[in-house]
Parts: sequence; C-alpha cells; structure tokens
Amino acid sequence: MFTAFLIKYAEIGIKGKNRYLFEDALIHQMKFALKKCEGRFLITKTQGRIFVEAEGEFDYDETVEHLQHVFGISGICPMIYAEDEGFEKLCDTVVKYMDDVYPDKNKTFKVNCRRARKNYPKDSMEVNADLGEAILNAYPEMTVDVHEPEILLNVEIREKIYIYSEIIPGPGGMPVGTGGKAMLLLSGGIDSPVAGYMIAKRGVKIDAVYFHAPPYTSERAKQKVVDLARLVSKYTGPIYLHVINFTDIQLYIHEKCPHEELTIIMRRYMMRIAEHIAKETGCLGLITGESIGQVASQTMSSLVATNEVCELPVYRPLIGFDKEEIVAVSKKIGTFETSILPFEDCCTIFVAKHPVTKPNVNIIRRHEHNLDDKIEELVKTALETDELIIVE
Ligand code: ATP
Ligand code: MG
Repeated sequence: MFTAFLIKYAEIGIKGKNRYLFEDALIHQMKFALKKCEGRFLITKTQGRIFVEAEGEFDYDETVEHLQHVFGISGICPMIYAEDEGFEKLCDTVVKYMDDVYPDKNKTFKVNCRRARKNYPKDSMEVNADLGEAILNAYPEMTVDVHEPEILLNVEIREKIYIYSEIIPGPGGMPVGTGGKAMLLLSGGIDSPVAGYMIAKRGVKIDAVYFHAPPYTSERAKQKVVDLARLVSKYTGPIYLHVINFTDIQLYIHEKCPHEELTIIMRRYMMRIAEHIAKETGCLGLITGESIGQVASQTMSSLVATNEVCELPVYRPLIGFDKEEIVAVSKKIGTFETSILPFEDCCTIFVAKHPVTKPNVNIIRRHEHNLDDKIEELVKTALETDELIIVE
C-alpha cells in the first residue's frame, strides 16, 4: 500500500550554511543504493525534508533494506500520499489508512498535522481534532492519547497530502562523502571489514588495500577479500581495492630479520605501502582493525612500532572492543559468514612461534637496516604492480 518514504536524518554535523552539502551527499548515496532496487524512484528535497517516491511498481522490502544501508538516515517512514480532494476525502483516506496499517484497533493514537501549505482551509489544530474525530467514529475501540500515543499519525499538507505513522530505523551516521576519504587495510578477517564500516558510518569514503602473498595465499583468499569489500560497499558505495603482491617483501624480511620480529616488521611495511597509496589517492588517514592486546602485534608496544612509520593518522575504531563485540557488529552488517571462511592469510603463514609482544622500536629499526636498498626496490615493484579492483 505504501508508495513513498519520508527520510529522516538525525545528526546534521554540518549545520547552517553547509547543510545542503550534507543533504546532497545523502541524496547521492540514496540514489546509489536505490539503483540496485527494482523500480524507478524520484527523490526530492523540500523544506528540510527528503522524500522518495516510487514511480510505478517496486519491491517494498528490497527498497527498505537498501535504504537501511545508507548512512545519514535515522529513520525511514513508509507513506501514502494523496491529491487534495477536499477534507471529506482526506478523512476517508485516513480512516482507510488506519484500517490497513493497524488491523488491531486496541491502540491509542494522536494526529499530528503539519501544514506546509498555508492556504489550506483548516489550520493544523482543526485538522488534528477533525481527523481524530473521524477515526474515533470509525473505530470506537481506539482512544486518543496526546502524551504517549502508540500511533503518532502524521499528516503533512503540501501540494499533495502525505500520511505516515511508522518509523523504520536507519543506520544513523553521516552520509558517505561528507568526511573525506581514508584507506582501509582490509584483510580477510573479522575485524577490518567492521573497522571500515565504522569509519564510513561517520561519512568517510573508503578505499582499501589488501596484501596478498601468492602462492602462499591462494586466489580464493583474495576472492574472499573482494567479497568482503563488496559487502562493505553496500554501505559505503564503490570501493577502490588495491591488491598488492607482498610475497617478495615477506620472503626478504623472513630472510634478513629475526623471526620473532617478522610480524611487526611486515606490519610496518604494510603501513608504509598503504600510506604511500593513500597519499597518492587523496586519502586523509589509514584504517585498521586493530584492538589492544588482541594478538602479539597489537599490544601497546607493538602499536608504537607500527604507528611510527606513518605520518597520516591511523584510525583504529575497534581499539577498545572485545572480540565478541566486534563479532556482533560483523553479524549485524553481514560480513561475519564470509570472514570466517577458512582461507589462509599472509600474516598467519609467516608467523613466528613466539613473536615479540614488547618490541623495542630502536631494535626493530636496527634490524630493518639489514634490509638495505633492496627493500626499497621490492616496495617500488610492489607499488608498480598494484592491481586495482573497483568493487561495487
Ligand atoms: P582481521 O580480522 O582484520 O584480519 P586480525 O586480528 O587478524 O584482524 P592482524 O592480522 O594482526 O589482525 O592485522 C591487524 C590489522 O592489519 C587488520 O585488522 C588489517 O587492518 C590489517 N591487515 C592485516 N593483514 C592484512 C592484509 N593481508 N592486507 C591488508 N591489511 C591487513
Ligand atoms: Mg588478519
């Protein structure tokens, strides 16, 4: 029965003069999300309201689901709209609406009229009272409660008349694109997709980099990362995924450095390469799925060591999360099932039995000197052979 949606957005971080930027970015992201739905949609912005109207046939559930992936939306209100054909007709429409949406009439309600068209013959108080009366006459089991109604029936009088009462929660956050762009270090694990989701939720566009190590890591492991990027892109829009061949760098570090420092030194090279691509592509930060103490390479001391090679800020939105909490988000956003597929990861293959948990940055630096100029060449080659996959 619904043919349109009113889109509510909660947090407008950029108020005042910049508000239109926020709204335009939101509309842009909504268009992207709706492109994947059956049907044609008209999105309009009037007087601080965004409406989605379906032009003809559409799939209601699919449309709602896609809108629920658009950051910046706090609520999706399914609506009906009618031409203004007089107040009697409006009463009939509203009475029918209540019957269609609430088969169980044992409910309290309140009518809330907003009159954007000031030449309407009744003012909003009158509309509230008269529509309320019409509903009570039709359904005597219903009662009015102006303080805490179970049903808040909104009637907006514009060129057309819009009626809605249900609010489906949206994902919240800020529209992607209003917060610049950052580079996500995306592995095939549970954490990094969640980290990307969380930063994107604050309006940040996401690019990603994946380090793979063929033949130690398989095509299937790489495909898993592409699949994860695609799942995250439902929220973020298209993701430019850089796939970096890390094999020679890893083998060379393995050859030249103490094995218990392997992971840390490897992570430092990942950060350096990610930052290089980030700077070239206009990203303003790096994102990782690290959380304090989760593994040896994520102790406070280890984070000092990986952090010091970067100039850009490194965003670690999961830093204070327990694994259980990360898993809960990953289930909510739909990446968990893919993340737990059992493909090898380039970190796990070269991992030492007893990796350092308190690396000393000076010692790490000294051992990196063993790598001499050759490492620069390997890094250069890795960057030159960057495979770009556009995921959407
Ligand atoms: P995840 O579930 O994200 O894989 P993890 O617990 O396995 O996390 P680590 O392997 O120590 O953690 O990696 C920490 C972070 O480093 C990851 O969250 C990710 O951001 C980045 N990272 C690790 N391996 C890779 C990789 N092969 N390619 C890109 N980024 C990676
Ligand atoms: Mg990992």
